Amino acid sequence: MKFNMKKLMACTLIFVMVLGLCACGGKKDKKESKGGDVFKEEPKTNCWEEKDGKQYYYGEDGEVMKGRFVLEDEQKIYYTDDDGAVKRTVDGKKPMVALTYDDGPSQFTMDFVKLFTEYESGATFYEVGERIDMFNFGEAEQAISDSYCELGSHTFNHKNIRNLSVEGMKKQLSKNDKILREYGATGDPITFRAPEGAVGDKKDTIDRAIILWSVDTEDWRYRDAKKVYKKATKDIKDGDIILMHSLYESTYKASKKIVPELIDQGFQLVTMQDLAEFRGGTKPGEVIFDMYPEVEETTEDAAEETTEEVTEEK
Ligand SMILES: [Zn+2]
Repeated sequence: MKFNMKKLMACTLIFVMVLGLCACGGKKDKKESKGGDVFKEEPKTNCWEEKDGKQYYYGEDGEVMKGRFVLEDEQKIYYTDDDGAVKRTVDGKKPMVALTYDDGPSQFTMDFVKLFTEYESGATFYEVGERIDMFNFGEAEQAISDSYCELGSHTFNHKNIRNLSVEGMKKQLSKNDKILREYGATGDPITFRAPEGAVGDKKDTIDRAIILWSVDTEDWRYRDAKKVYKKATKDIKDGDIILMHSLYESTYKASKKIVPELIDQGFQLVTMQDLAEFRGGTKPGEVIFDMYPEVEETTEDAAEETTEEVTEEK
């Protein structure tokens, strides 16, 4: 019986898959049609197509999706090349951590981007707009946007927002947003890390979440690649947000070992946007330290509860 059910399910699955393929690749060759029927090419919407071993996804409007896009049904995020061929997939059901680098750009930013590209991974760079012309005039920021990484905001000139008026705070954010958007920053809004991790009592007037961290490597204090490596790879959990700074060569050296080590531990290295996508999103004014997955009630817990209820009834 079980065997038959499996067989039936497999057949049904194959049937559905064939149907799906027809819906997407529904090209009809006119030569095949008899009796002069006019075959219109089915529009390809919301479906995958394979061409030369590469995967393309057709969106709602029938166009191939390009850049970064999310398929909620699949719980996956895709990154494509300029033609829309998928290059990287983030699986919302698998463990992930966000490596974050503050205070850039710096002379090392391009090296960081190359590192993350090499490992087909992402990270978030919380950039200070005022510094951009000091290093590569935006070349590094554009490289971040063109990779699997993300540009985040760290205010225009690294102001502790606790000491700012509401107006001053808004200016720090909007001025930096404008610059970062010029270099391809995405996100609505662009994710934000408060300088010095200071939040203050005006946090509710901010138009976005304040991203802090669950793991502090203290790389600015140690300037020691080994120590930073240890802090960023020991006891790391699904949903951790790891704080580093892109200003130090020691942090870059540490990252060259951190990235492959965390991948070996089974983590996907993702941007804050990617992490938030499948972990409940973010709300304005919310202070975020981590994005651990919600703990689902296990069947054992459920069974225990039932037993308790029964005992009470007695
Ligand atoms: Zn900072």
